[in-house]
Amino acid sequence: VILFRTIAETREHVAAARERGLTVGLVPTMGALHEGHGVLLRHAREETGYVVATIFVNPTQFNRPDDFQKYPRDLETDLAFCERLGVDAVFAPDVNEMYPGDLHQKMPLASVEVAGVSARLEGEFRPGHFRGVATVVAKLFNIVQADRAYFGEKDAQQLAVIQRMVADLNFSVTIVPVPTVREPDGLAMSSRNQRLTPEQRRIAPVIYKALCEAERSIQGALGMIAAAPEIQVEYFEAVDPKTFEPVEKMAGPVRIVAAVRLGDVRLIDNVLVSIR
Ligand code: AMP
Repeated sequence: VILFRTIAETREHVAAARERGLTVGLVPTMGALHEGHGVLLRHAREETGYVVATIFVNPTQFNRPDDFQKYPRDLETDLAFCERLGVDAVFAPDVNEMYPGDLHQKMPLASVEVAGVSARLEGEFRPGHFRGVATVVAKLFNIVQADRAYFGEKDAQQLAVIQRMVADLNFSVTIVPVPTVREPDGLAMSSRNQRLTPEQRRIAPVIYKALCEAERSIQGALGMIAAAPEIQVEYFEAVDPKTFEPVEKMAGPVRIVAAVRLGDVRLIDNVLVSIR
């Protein structure tokens, strides 16, 4: 695997791959790679000829400075992970490469806002988060010019925001959704899981168990979480899978989404259910 630190060398090498007739696959990440990222990279490896992983802890999508500072970073381990999976290139810019000059209210002067789908849930509890995400992903799309880009359903609202951005702004990239990868006990893999204490880690799988229960009974699901007083719920609800608006009736395809806090670690998860 080859490491790029600059936009210019990334563009140059991707253009060369394209001239060799290869299709380009992009997997944007914030690093601290785990098997959740692994499946995205494997899909990209199977479906495209030149796989670029990006590793960038994007400051503009963090609404809490402590979350940004404590976010795990380990480039050496991530590079070895990418090497094992046959990734061709890793683009890992520093903040100055991506945002030269001063940010205005923590954002570049030009930014991407996707209204509607980004308003509620993550958008409400993390003000500015999706503007930061949409903007950095738009920049990565323009830098890498991939044919296909891979995103996890673990971050289902983010995936919906990106799909809306690509449709509305005519990016010529195909977005490929990839199902959530879980630990054997059901906990969705996340870089933030590293920050759980052993006690919190023992409790965390109840999030997924409650999401599964919610297909039958939201009351039952909330009861399961209430039984773990260490967990503070930010939201737990049933939404339309495309618009992320609340559903009036539990019918048809519905996404049950949750965000909770265990101490100072914030975790999200969701399941797609089809209710008749
Ligand atoms: P992150 O590094 O957390 O920003 O995630 C980078 C990409 O990996 C996003 O598209 C995530 O949705 C995806 N991802 C993270 N965790 C998982 C998981 N457990 N299963 C599937 N995809 C994931």
